[in-house]
Order: sequence, then C-alpha cells, then structure tokens
Amino acid sequence: MKQCEYCGKEITYHEIYCCDDCQIKANRFYERCEKFSKLFTAVNTACVFGIPVGLFLMSFLRLLGTVVASGSCIILGLMLLLFPFPTEGMIKKFKIIKAVKIVRILGIAVIVLGLFIAGMLVILGF
Ligand SMILES: [Zn+2]
Repeated sequence: MKQCEYCGKEITYHEIYCCDDCQIKANRFYERCEKFSKLFTAVNTACVFGIPVGLFLMSFLRLLGTVVASGSCIILGLMLLLFPFPTEGMIKKFKIIKAVKIVRILGIAVIVLGLFIAGMLVILGF
C-alpha cells in the first residue's frame, strides 16, 4: 500500500499526497530545506567536528575543551530543533511528519548531552 509522502496515511496508487493540505505542507517543507540547507550543513559540520575536538582538548585544557564540546552539542541540537531536515532515506522510510519528529527528538538528545558535558565540568570543578 502506498502512503502519503507527508503524513503517512494510506493512499491509492496514483496519488502522492492524501490531500491538498499535505501537498502544500510538503512543498513548504522542501522549500525550507533548500533555503537553509547550506547554513544547516555548514553549522552541522562545524559542530560535528567541534565535539571530538572539544573532548580532546578537555584532557589538558578542561575549561576550553568543555566549552567547545558542550557548545557544539547545544548549537547542533538547536539547529536540529529549528531546522529539522531529515535525510532522504529517513523521509522515504518514515514520511515527512514522522522523520521531522525523529530529528527534533535527536536535537533534544544532543542538547541534553551538551548540558551533561557542561554539568560534568561543574561537578568535577575547573
Ligand atoms: Zn497526508
């Protein structure tokens, strides 16, 4: 059975979306993806590098390392919350609504991780 690209409702074979509303929302989603994809990729790449660099620095520059690692996590998490762009594979598998939700949950998890790293610094002392 085919599913609506946006909400995942079951549809007939010749349809792509279950209703006009889903089609409009899906188009808006793809437009946003295109508009912000460069910014999204640039920030994400910087953060994905920042996390291991920060963790590495933590072994000898604890404060700087922690700020870099937890800052990268929090920025990455906020990006995922504000611009929840799943990969094409995720959209195919889960459809847009669910894929976006998964990315947002991932964003929250990354923010929590960032706060946890920052909390470690407070617990262990500077
Ligand atoms: Zn739909």
